[in-house]
Amino acid sequence: MACPNIDAPTNPSCQRQWDVPLCAKVRQSLLDSTSTAAERARLLAVGEWESGLWLQALPSSNVGIMLDDATFRLAACLRVGAPCVSPHRCHCGVLVDNLGHHGLSCSRSAGRISRHCSLNDIIRRALVTAGVPAVLEPNGLARDDGKRPDGMSLLPWKMGRPLVWDATCVDTLAPSHLPSTSICSGAAAAAAESLKRRKYANLIGDCIFEPFGVETMGSWGPSAKKIFFDISRRIISTTRDQRAGLYLGQRISIAIQRGNAASLLGTLPGDGDAEIFYDALF
Ligand SMILES: [Zn+2]
Repeated sequence: MACPNIDAPTNPSCQRQWDVPLCAKVRQSLLDSTSTAAERARLLAVGEWESGLWLQALPSSNVGIMLDDATFRLAACLRVGAPCVSPHRCHCGVLVDNLGHHGLSCSRSAGRISRHCSLNDIIRRALVTAGVPAVLEPNGLARDDGKRPDGMSLLPWKMGRPLVWDATCVDTLAPSHLPSTSICSGAAAAAAESLKRRKYANLIGDCIFEPFGVETMGSWGPSAKKIFFDISRRIISTTRDQRAGLYLGQRISIAIQRGNAASLLGTLPGDGDAEIFYDALF
C-alpha cells in the first residue's frame, strides 16, 4: 500500500531507499506525539547514530564491552523512556519518580566520577593504539585556575603541537538543559564543550585543545565527534581494521551507559532496598 507524503525510491531494488523515509516518518510522528520537553529531548538524543552504539557492541567480557543485566535493563529503560525504578527519595532529599532521571543530574551522582575516568582511559588507550602515547592529567599544564586538563598526547598531534583534551558528560534531561536539548540534539554537550574552550583558552596556541563533551542520553558534541573521527582514522590506519573506529565508539557509548546505571542505582537508599526495587521491576 502506498504511503502518503513519501516519494517512491529512485532505485526500487535498494532496501535502504525504502527504509530511510519510513523510519524518518515514524521518528517525526514520535516527536510530534511528545507531551513534555524531556520526552522530546530524549527522542532527539537517541536518534543520533552515536547514542545507539552500545546496542551494536558484541557482549564480550574479555574486551570489557559486556554490560551486566542490570546495566543493560536500565540503559534500555532510559533509551525508550520506560519506568525503571520505584518512586523513592534520593540521598540528596529529592523525590525520584519512576523514570529515575533525577539520578543522572543529582549533585551526588554516583556514576559521574567512574564515567569520567572511563572516558579518559578509553581516549588515552585509543591514542596509544593509534601510535600516539598519551598521559592523563599531565604535569606542567594547567588552566588559569590551576586545574589540569584530563589528558595530553606525548607526541605532536597536528601542526607540531600535542593534543590536549578534557572530557565531560552532561545530562540531556537536566532541567537546566531541556530548553536547548529539546530543540537540538547534542546541544548540552556542545555548550559544555564551548565552556571548556573558554576555561582552557590559555592553552590554545601551545597545543591542540579539544573538549570531549558527551551527554547521558548518548549524543556527542561537535568537538567530541571531530576527535573521535580523527582518532578512528589513525587507529584504522595503524591496525588495518576497518571496524576499529566503530569499536572505539562502542566503548565510549558503553562507558556512558555504565555511568548512567551507576547514577540511577546511586539514588537508592541502601543495598537491601535496592534488591527490593529490582525484584519489583525485573
Ligand atoms: Zn539526588
